[in-house]
Amino acid sequence: MVDMDTTSRTPNVPIKDFKRTKIIVTVGPSTESYKSVLAMLKAGANGFRLNFSHGTYDSHQQFIKWIRKASADYGKPVAIIQDLQGPKIRVGDFEGIINVRTGMSLRFKKGANYEEEKIIPLQYDIAKKVKRGERLFLFDGRIRTTITSVKDGVVHVRAENDGVLVKRKGINLPDTDFQGDIITKKDKQDIAAGVDMDLDYVALSFVQHESDIVKIRNRLKSLGSSAKVIAKIETKSAVENAEDIISEADMVMVARGDLAIETLPESVPVMQRKIIGLGIKYNTPSIVATQMLASMTEVPEPTRAEVSDIATAVILGADCVMLSDETASGKYPIQSVEIMKRVILHVQNENPVNVSFDNDNPDTPRSSAICSAVIRLAEELDAKAIVAETKSGNTALQIAAGRSDVPLVAVTSNLRTAQQLAVVYGVKSYNRPADKLAATKLTNWLHSNKLLKKYDIIVTVSGKYPGVVGTTDTIKVRVL
Ligand code: PGA
Ligand code: MN
Repeated sequence: MVDMDTTSRTPNVPIKDFKRTKIIVTVGPSTESYKSVLAMLKAGANGFRLNFSHGTYDSHQQFIKWIRKASADYGKPVAIIQDLQGPKIRVGDFEGIINVRTGMSLRFKKGANYEEEKIIPLQYDIAKKVKRGERLFLFDGRIRTTITSVKDGVVHVRAENDGVLVKRKGINLPDTDFQGDIITKKDKQDIAAGVDMDLDYVALSFVQHESDIVKIRNRLKSLGSSAKVIAKIETKSAVENAEDIISEADMVMVARGDLAIETLPESVPVMQRKIIGLGIKYNTPSIVATQMLASMTEVPEPTRAEVSDIATAVILGADCVMLSDETASGKYPIQSVEIMKRVILHVQNENPVNVSFDNDNPDTPRSSAICSAVIRLAEELDAKAIVAETKSGNTALQIAAGRSDVPLVAVTSNLRTAQQLAVVYGVKSYNRPADKLAATKLTNWLHSNKLLKKYDIIVTVSGKYPGVVGTTDTIKVRVL
């Protein structure tokens, strides 16, 4: 068990001053050192995303070592997320640029040679998947085309606007049904390699259907992984199946970059509200991702609109806000995390979370009743914290979904659970040995380390069988 309890290394911040909305950072060239990883963790990062569209297995492993060391050195569990590329299709290599004019015909084929055949190469064979009449977007949606025919592995399209195409740019197929075949050969290799990498979550890109989540979860289980599954909502089909996907997944991401291309930019804020709300309904934590502080890749100050965007996510009750290029390749990675934390703390203190869906779990009426009773009790007594014992994390997830402003301290004998809970709304997690008095002991420890003080009221939630999932049965009120 990693020693997570040396507070001399962490500042003794009163429990009420912890940020409730969590921060996920993406690591990359800008943050490729132990020092940067530790600085981001200290500045407020609760989760670290490894983008498997880039980097090597060695570079991912190196980041994991640094993250786990920083986490142990600083005494704060954090989550590590493997983000799989998914069926992100790209144009292959060719010389120079292609000037596209409205009405022009273009041809695509896997492995083609543009110089010889005037057919644009693709890195993935889409000919068997796409149909006439479907849309094919190039270069982040900058060039829009419609498929006119598919013959002998060649996809013919008509350009709907003018533009310039350069090599290796991404393709989006918003109308194409991948019929459950979204996990690519590369993803399968990356999943297998990830099993030996100490990961807490695996994120699946371009999910279309809830069965995609079941498939990846079964694959992970059969390989012996305890990682949870994040569904990235970024396709038209995922929007249509959002409720089923969110109820199936362990966590959900509003992947606004591709979502804006595959649907419409103006539908993204509407979907963001709906996804966060459905997450609360089904105990599925949510992440708001992409361009949250985009301008900070170049300048040290955020725009007014970016600050407002973070504030909106906090007010809607998102579990996490995420940084991508800002921390992976931007010029001001640490400052980006600091600004995000400042905005979160200010907003949570000035503006109550305003949820648009109620938590509702007909599948677990008993634990659901216990958790809502705990929240009511804590709020009516003006408790300083709820301290909950949890083995799998489910009790904590369910209390968190109540979006109470009473901070939730989770104590678990499972280190993986402590790490997974690091990216859940309002939760501060601690890894301690299984013990009949785990919640009481942790409360005493928080008191002696000044995170709680004399006369603070605490509500503890525990079970008769410590370390056994689903045995929560005791609520206690304690005055320190
Ligand atoms: P990506 O996913 O950064 O892996 O593309 C997030 C998004 O599309 O917004
Ligand atoms: Mn994406």
